[in-house]
Amino acid sequence: MARVMNFNPGPAALPLTALERARDELIDFRGSGMSIIEHSHRGKEYEAVHDEAIALTRELLSVSDNYHVLFLQGGASQQFAVVPMNLLPSGKSADYILTGGWSEKALEEAKLIGQTRVAASTGENGKYTRIPRKDELKLDPNAAYVHMTSNNTLFGTQWFEFPETGNVPLVADMSSDFMWRKFDVNRFALIYAGAQKNIGPSGIVLVIARKDIVEGGRKDIPKIFRYNTHADNRSLYNTPPTFSIYLVRNVLSWMKEQGGLSAMEKINREKGRLLYEAIDRHADYYRCPVATDSRSLMNVVFRLPTEALEEQFVGEAKKKGMVGLKGHRSVGGIRVSLYNAVSVESVKALTAFMDDFIRSNGAKS
Ligand code: PMP
Repeated sequence: MARVMNFNPGPAALPLTALERARDELIDFRGSGMSIIEHSHRGKEYEAVHDEAIALTRELLSVSDNYHVLFLQGGASQQFAVVPMNLLPSGKSADYILTGGWSEKALEEAKLIGQTRVAASTGENGKYTRIPRKDELKLDPNAAYVHMTSNNTLFGTQWFEFPETGNVPLVADMSSDFMWRKFDVNRFALIYAGAQKNIGPSGIVLVIARKDIVEGGRKDIPKIFRYNTHADNRSLYNTPPTFSIYLVRNVLSWMKEQGGLSAMEKINREKGRLLYEAIDRHADYYRCPVATDSRSLMNVVFRLPTEALEEQFVGEAKKKGMVGLKGHRSVGGIRVSLYNAVSVESVKALTAFMDDFIRSNGAKS
């Protein structure tokens, strides 16, 4: 069996170990005579998996007892709406920092719920090529919360130092860089992240929320959208996506075996270093539009001299077993996603291919 080198932006590569474990347990989960998918979400077999997934998240990120860890549905897109539904009462305003298409979408949903402000935007001419500087953040000290997107999946920018918001709760969409390294959860009031990039399949959005924020959330919204409902029921209020949570459990336990988030960070930094070095080595051919200090280690974007060469690059890479390299349709170019399950070897194969591609197609046309 040949597994390709998968650079997809999400759903994305998963560690083979996690998939093999799923394969081995699929038909008969721990001698129960059925798969985990067929078990009741109220039975002891599934509950053990569910609790383990939550416990592993807490352990890997050192999440304190001040926070709930929730496994919800509807993706990060639903959180765009659920965050303001819970945290934006009438008479208050929420600050949004715009760094890409996803933060724009989050703002659009919040506008439907209440009052909002743009605290900063780096979207010059519709292209976001950097993270705002500290002095560009015009934060409202009375805001209900500040919303940011920690990694911009389409444009390839990433926050490496999170903004200081004083007493104003900081909310982050971490969908595309969640758990790529250890970070201080205590800096945030609420974090949400779709699982399908760094920690599992689609179907789940993880929420880590401070308990006082959850308890203080609005009660005049449908029960299913209240964080409190899910916190009170350990994310078992309604039937959860059991197979997705099971797979997240497998991925998190693989991450733990690899040495946890410090090991992940080391590998992720090495992959980013290798790829940006390859780009910069041929800066007159591979052009990265992103400001150097904002370059994402999760989604690396670059252009070739022409769109025709970009198409050829994607086609030839595919023949060599490297897939998922086409940039997002709204941005174009090449995008390489380097989530946790992408190996250093795959990146080395890609950079060798990049060197070769120039040798064969070097002249700008
Ligand atoms: N936020 C970010 C940063 C994303 O990258 C994505 C998906 N690519 C989303 C939100 C939307 O996630 P979902 O499709 O799970 O709703």
